[in-house]
Amino acid sequence: MTDQIASILKSWGEPSYRLKQVDDARRSGARDWDDVTTLPKDLRARLAEVAPLWTVTPDAMAESRDGTIKWRLRTGDGLAIESVLIKHARGRRTLCVSSQAGCALGCRFCATGAMGPGRDLTAREIADQAFLAADVAREADARLSNVVFMGMGEPLQNTAAVFDAIREMHSPDGLGISARSIAVSTAGWVPGIEEMVAFEVPVRLALSLHAADDDTRTALMPINNRWPIANVLAACRRYADRTGRRVFIEYLLLDGVNDSVADANRLASQLRDGRFHVNLIEYNATTGQYRGSSPERATRFAEALQESGLHPSFRRSRGADIAAACGQLANTPA
Ligand code: SAH
Ligand code: SF4
Repeated sequence: MTDQIASILKSWGEPSYRLKQVDDARRSGARDWDDVTTLPKDLRARLAEVAPLWTVTPDAMAESRDGTIKWRLRTGDGLAIESVLIKHARGRRTLCVSSQAGCALGCRFCATGAMGPGRDLTAREIADQAFLAADVAREADARLSNVVFMGMGEPLQNTAAVFDAIREMHSPDGLGISARSIAVSTAGWVPGIEEMVAFEVPVRLALSLHAADDDTRTALMPINNRWPIANVLAACRRYADRTGRRVFIEYLLLDGVNDSVADANRLASQLRDGRFHVNLIEYNATTGQYRGSSPERATRFAEALQESGLHPSFRRSRGADIAAACGQLANTPA
C-alpha cells in the first residue's frame, strides 16, 4: 500500500525489507520520517525530500460529548477531508472514512452533496485515514474494529481506490479488519454495485434508499433518475446472493416526506425476500429544507415494517454536536 514509497525504494535499489520497516513504523505510531528510526538516517532524509510518510495529515480535531472524534485532514495537494471515529463499548471504535473530497451526486439532505464535486481520493489517502485512526485508538487502549465508507463522497464512483484500500484494511499485514466489519455505503451507483459483486472481499453493502417510490426518491436523490429503485434493488440482490450477506437499507426518516404508514408498507413490499435489513436513520440537521420525523411518527413507521415481517433497527445519531454525524460532513470548522 505504501505504493509510492515502495516504487521509490525499489528504484533506489534498496532491499525489500526496507518497505516492511516503513510499514511497521507506520503501524506503530510514526508520524514522520524522523520517527522511522529503523532506517539509516541518510535514507530517511532522502525519503523526506521526495515523499510524505502519510498522504493525509491531521489539521484540526474536535471531540464530541459522546466521545466521537472528528478530524479534518489535509491531502498533499491541500484539500480538506474529514474522518470520524465513533466510540463504542468494550474498547471498540468505528471509523467513518471519506472516499472523495466532496460529492457530485447532490442529495438534497446532505451537506457533502451541497459542497459539490471534489476529486477521488487515492487508495493510500483512504487507507491512511484508517491507519491514523487505528493508531489513535491504540493510544486510548482501544481497537479499530469497524470501518464504514459513510464519510464524504460516493465510494462506488471510486471503486479502484476503495477496493485497494479495503484490501489493505482487511489484510493481516495491514489492519486485519474482518470483511463483515467493513461496510460500503452507496447512493445507488449501479455499475459500482456490479463491480462489488466481482470483488473478492465480501464486505457489507449498505444502500441509501430513503424512499419507497421513484417520485419521492428522485426529488431527494437525483441519482434515482439514472438508476430507479427497481434497478438498484436488483443489483443489491445480486450482491446479497453472491456474498450470502443481507444488504442494509438505510432509510432517513423525513417528516411528511417519506414517513407515512403507506410509505412503510410500500417499502416492506419491495424488501420482503429476506435479502435486506432496514436501518432507520435519524435526520441530522444540515442547511437543507427538511425536518426529521417526530418520535411518534418514527415509531409508527417502524411498527408498520414490523407488521410486514421486517425487523428494522434504529441508527442513533452520534457526534451531532460537532457536525460529525452522517450527512453533516462539509469541512465546517472542527
Ligand atoms: N455517498 C454514500 C456514502 C456517504 S453518505 C451514500 O450516500 O450512501 C453516508 C450516509 O449518510 C448515507 O446513508 C446518507 O444517505 C446519510 N446522510 C446524508 N445526509 C444525512 C443527514 N442529513 N442526516 C442523516 N443521514 C444522512
Ligand atoms: Fe453524496 Fe452520499 Fe451525500 Fe448523496 S448522501 S450527496 S451520495 S455523500
